[in-house]
Amino acid sequence: KDEVQIITGALELSKKTVLDVMTKLDDVYMIEYNSILDFETMSTILKTGYTRIPIYEKERSNILAILNVKDLAFIDPDDKTPLCTVYKFYNHPVNFVYDDTTLQVMLEEFKKGRFHMSFVQRVNDTGPGDPYYETLGVVTLEDVIEEIIQAEIIDE
Ligand code: ADP
Repeated sequence: KDEVQIITGALELSKKTVLDVMTKLDDVYMIEYNSILDFETMSTILKTGYTRIPIYEKERSNILAILNVKDLAFIDPDDKTPLCTVYKFYNHPVNFVYDDTTLQVMLEEFKKGRFHMSFVQRVNDTGPGDPYYETLGVVTLEDVIEEIIQAEIIDE
């Protein structure tokens, strides 16, 4: 039964898109570029339990980089280090994919190992203004794997 489920899930990878499985931008825990890494901020970050935390400036749709919790290992909260110092030091690149990217293509990208979180965007050409890139959410390797095994992975 499990095998049938996994094969079914694998076959669906070419049909489903990142839009179907992403975490919506409103539900993503992010941190503002001008934050100070004091005790309160660092505790909040660690309590969320997320490994990758997008860094945005001013507006949540304006994503600059990704903070990895490992980047905080040598940070002493008493130093009140500005987040931008850490950001400039590690400068993890941000990857974007279009909302209609299939999970099969997304999996191949993740397998290359350069990143395990990607931002889902689309060209918004509704409304009177010029078309613009709209960020819709994030997709991680775990979201794709859950589709293959057709089950939720419960985090530790
Ligand atoms: P982690 O390693 O942080 O547990 P995973 O890559 O295993 O994250 O993803 C687990 C789930 O959490 C996925 O559904 C993913 O879209 C979501 N996720 C990852 N990072 C964040 C974040 N910063 N805020 C909200 N959801 C997130």
